[in-house]
Amino acid sequence: MTEMNPDKCCDSACIPCERDPAGSEPFDLCNYVGGAFVCHSNDEWMNVLEPATGFRFGRVPLSSEEDVATAVAAARSAQPSWGALSHSERADWLDRIADALEACYEEIAALESRDTGKPISLARAVDAHRSVSNFRFFAGILREHEEEVFEMASATNYVVSKPVGVGALITPWNLPLYLLSWKVAPAIGMGNTVVCKPSELTPMTADLLMRVIDGVGLPAGVVNLVHGDGAGAGAPLVAHSDVDLVSFTGGTATGKKVAASAAPAFKKLSLELGGKNSSIVFADCDIDSTVTGVVRAGFLNQGQVCLCGSRVLVEESAYDEFRDRFVDAVEAMRVGDPSDENTDLGALISEQHLKKVQGYVELAKQEGGTLLTGGTPCMPSGFEHGNWMAPTVIEGLSPNSRCATEEIFGPIVTLHSFSSEDEAIVIANNTNYGLAGSVWTGDLDKGKRVSEAIETGMVWVNTWLHRDLRVPFGGVKDSGVGREGGKWSLGFFSEAMNVCVKHD
Ligand code: NAD
Repeated sequence: MTEMNPDKCCDSACIPCERDPAGSEPFDLCNYVGGAFVCHSNDEWMNVLEPATGFRFGRVPLSSEEDVATAVAAARSAQPSWGALSHSERADWLDRIADALEACYEEIAALESRDTGKPISLARAVDAHRSVSNFRFFAGILREHEEEVFEMASATNYVVSKPVGVGALITPWNLPLYLLSWKVAPAIGMGNTVVCKPSELTPMTADLLMRVIDGVGLPAGVVNLVHGDGAGAGAPLVAHSDVDLVSFTGGTATGKKVAASAAPAFKKLSLELGGKNSSIVFADCDIDSTVTGVVRAGFLNQGQVCLCGSRVLVEESAYDEFRDRFVDAVEAMRVGDPSDENTDLGALISEQHLKKVQGYVELAKQEGGTLLTGGTPCMPSGFEHGNWMAPTVIEGLSPNSRCATEEIFGPIVTLHSFSSEDEAIVIANNTNYGLAGSVWTGDLDKGKRVSEAIETGMVWVNTWLHRDLRVPFGGVKDSGVGREGGKWSLGFFSEAMNVCVKHD
């Protein structure tokens, strides 16, 4: 393990919450391995750019296979003693982390807003809030987790939940700490030790989590973090022979590589992948709350949430009224400085992603779509180097078009009409994805009936992103394999073993 070089890495700042998130000095991040902040083994770096300004505010190590191996070894050596603790002892650790994270609430929100370009109000309400509550929630259900017993006439079966071993936790850029904490908490709660590999585009709050974990004194090696890109750090981590499970959240194309790499060793695998979700609007809905809800579903986090409803299917008889009110509401959203409390939409994650999203506007025109609003870059004054895109609504596309079926992951929503319940279901199911969806209707029986007919992992009726952490979370088709959330996370991050004891 390389010792930290104070000229290169941050040493004295290795105390949770002391870093000034508004500071303008670029700084270099370190890996966190075996309870210490350490330099990576080469001198390769990547700039961390603020999406809103395009300016650099940090550098992330591009770690190598060697760094990954060191981190996996640290996790392996910590696992037996960590795995030997009781559920309630590990739950106490999760609560300590939650308390320390909560004390950094504002810092999490500010860092996340700066790192991702999302509005500060959203970073507070969603990212900071959920990161803390993920640790608290899993502490709670861990304490309630009871050994299952199955009695037979001549024997008693009981189920032991054993740790799986060393876990690789790989996360994307859109909800950085929210998703990392969603994995770390249940993984270590069930007695595993882990190596985290956050997105190289948004590494800042993962670094903060390591400082928090270091600050509370979690035993060395239980949580390790290796920064880097997918090819240099992510792929060797998944492939490492001493990694027992992989929990991956990211794009479908990457998920396929991860699955192929993990399969030969039969690693336990959870894949939370992309989505192309429908918001289905029936004419009998409450139009005011539906417009508000469907706009939120389409554009939250600039449309960069895997659950976003980016294709809106509207019953023919209500189409014109809904479209006009929807476009008015989209145009009323304030796009601007992410640090402004009143901003509704911030910047897209990167220049490369902006180009991809803009490419879909061009494609939509070729596919016969009509732009109702947006479609152009929109740079707020003072942010000319950032990645800005006006919220965009397109109609007139075939529901089978590429724009209506592929994941764009940006502030673009396409509108389509349908004439019957059956047609709405056919259109909703006409994508390779199956992650989420929402149904908007005054008839709850119809809402439930349509929901259950959609090939997807989760559906909301008259609401969207209304999350209860106890429920299963995950997708079907190209949206992934497995479920996380509540007892499903506890199950994934453990091995259920049956012991059968014959009675005298
Ligand atoms: P991505 O697949 O490009 O990257 C995700 C992570 O995987 C990053 O940390 C990256 O460095 C790493 N990675 C890249 N190549 C790898 C490889 N070969 N082996 C191992 N790791 C590798 O995804 P992204 O662009 O960061 O995130 C956006 C995508 O994530 C969207 O498709 C979105 O729908 C999806 N997403 C899904 C969920 C969900 O819960 N289903 C949640 C959030 C985001």
